[in-house]
Amino acid sequence: MKTFKGSCHCQAVQFEIDTDLSELTTCDCSICVKKNALMIKVHETSMRILSGNKSLTTYQFHSNTAKHYFCNICGIYPFHRKRVTPDHFGVNVHCLDDFPINDIPVRATIGAAMK
Ligand SMILES: [Zn+2]
Repeated sequence: MKTFKGSCHCQAVQFEIDTDLSELTTCDCSICVKKNALMIKVHETSMRILSGNKSLTTYQFHSNTAKHYFCNICGIYPFHRKRVTPDHFGVNVHCLDDFPINDIPVRATIGAAMK
């Protein structure tokens, strides 16, 4: 396991994840497409929000299970709580410092077909 620090653009939201770097995912659901999201999945016990809880705004839609967080100052999406596995977060890998994006395989997941 490796630990990475992450933040939104304005640094109000800061967090840390532990990950085995097994895979990244894209998703074809309506919100991931618009966010151009490239994500890594981590269990909630491997995710620590260090600061900025009050700067996080939640957006929900459709089944209202997933919780999509964004910074209410700079508008960046740092992570979301997942719908099928709500004890996991999908983390925006572009928010992680010194993250080896190009060394990890990317899997395209199907979100749009979920009812
Ligand atoms: Zn911010």
